[in-house]
Amino acid sequence: MKEKFAELKRRLQEVYDLRGAIHLLYWDQATYMPPKGAAARGRQLATLEHLSHNKLTDPAIGRLLDELAPYEQELPYDSDEASLLRVTRRDYERAIKVPVEFVSKVSAHRAASFDVWTRARPANDFQAVKPYLEKTLEYSREFANYFPGYEHIADPLIDLSDYGMTAKTIQALFAELRQELLPLVRAILEQPPVDDSFLHRFYPEEKQKAFGEKVITQFGYDFQRGRQDKTHHPFMIKFSLNDVRITTRFDEHNLGDGLFSTLHEAGHALYEQGIAQELEGTPLASGTSSGVHESQSRLWENLVGRSRPFWDHYYPELQAVFPDELQDVSVEQFHRAINKVQRSLIRVDADEVTYNLHVMMRFDFELALLEGRMTVDELPEAWRERMRTDLGVEPPDDKDGVLQDVHWYSGFIGGAFQGYTLGNIMSAQFFQAAQRAHPEIPEQIGQGQFDVLRGWLTEQIYRHGRKFTASELIQRATGQPLGIQPYMNYLRQKYGQLYQLDRVTAPS
Ligand code: ZN
Repeated sequence: MKEKFAELKRRLQEVYDLRGAIHLLYWDQATYMPPKGAAARGRQLATLEHLSHNKLTDPAIGRLLDELAPYEQELPYDSDEASLLRVTRRDYERAIKVPVEFVSKVSAHRAASFDVWTRARPANDFQAVKPYLEKTLEYSREFANYFPGYEHIADPLIDLSDYGMTAKTIQALFAELRQELLPLVRAILEQPPVDDSFLHRFYPEEKQKAFGEKVITQFGYDFQRGRQDKTHHPFMIKFSLNDVRITTRFDEHNLGDGLFSTLHEAGHALYEQGIAQELEGTPLASGTSSGVHESQSRLWENLVGRSRPFWDHYYPELQAVFPDELQDVSVEQFHRAINKVQRSLIRVDADEVTYNLHVMMRFDFELALLEGRMTVDELPEAWRERMRTDLGVEPPDDKDGVLQDVHWYSGFIGGAFQGYTLGNIMSAQFFQAAQRAHPEIPEQIGQGQFDVLRGWLTEQIYRHGRKFTASELIQRATGQPLGIQPYMNYLRQKYGQLYQLDRVTAPS
């Protein structure tokens, strides 16, 4: 059995290393590649993707999994070995159900669709992408149908990023959240707007970068096992557990943009850097779901990085970096400005409170499109209508409406968005459990110390990689299934104070 297990691990390590190489090429494409490198890069990626798919779906892997099944039965569920077999079986069975011709067809369509979208968005031309989007919807349904037995057609698509969650459970959770969130958003928006004009003074890039890197080093991001570079749309990417990179962007007239993007991506990276080294080179060496991943980026960005204790410590340092720009701004004013709630058209620019309304709209539309309750044609108008009712603001054009996110133009329709809001909900539940175990955490944050918080997160979440599903992890770490109350309590308390909303502040 030992030899068979070693043989399986050797084969899986080849897949892992190929994935690392693919990620390296993507990273380069989004950071330093000269424009004319694009055509060859597309080919290189397709070749490696094909190789990696073939290696994962090699019938030898299926045989080894069968032969190792009795061995798995003898091992504890949470052992490295049993977890490796369980997760590999899931990956393998998913990969062999989808014909390789379909995979190639979809990846060619994605590239074409993305290309059209990059021109259609600035031109505000929904008609140009419409046929591509219709094809994408068709392929999304086709993909789901390789997994018969699902309850909802979106379930196989949701499984790709948030394994174990279903349309039904997410719908129920989101309905509850929406019901509690809408009155809070309305109450906040009735208040006088917060002045954040000072965030748009001139903040030189180099100083912003140095400050952000200092903060994430103190969070525990290890620059010996990572680096930060510039890009248009920031992301975190991993080549191995010891090379976890982040990207950011700077706007010299928007202090929050670069800083919070850096904190966000560092949160993703802390998760990957925190995975146990014993899992390196295996399918377990990765975050477990997009929801749990996003819970970590949002936790470090928002629950830590936009909190008052954090700024009580860091604001004097920030003022020392930008003495002229911030001399007339108090920490109260600064804290209010970086937490300003407003009606916005663009999801990625939205504040913590309204952000979820943007996400839930997209999730609902994905289900409606997949079920056939809505056509691609009806999408732009449905978008305007929903923005009007939820946020009281209507996009003047499709560029800042239905064309704004890359997801549907470079991937499937379905499973693309729920992770963002699941992550917000989870972030508060994890943070509450961490504070229950270590009540000194806020005080520590107020001293610029994060080791107790990071230690708890590493122990409960990071080190396990993909050993546990999101639901298992939440239950183990917090003693509860996923629920919205910790998140709503957090929002009510924080924004109740910031906007003096006595009416909607929950009794503490
Ligand atoms: Zn993220």
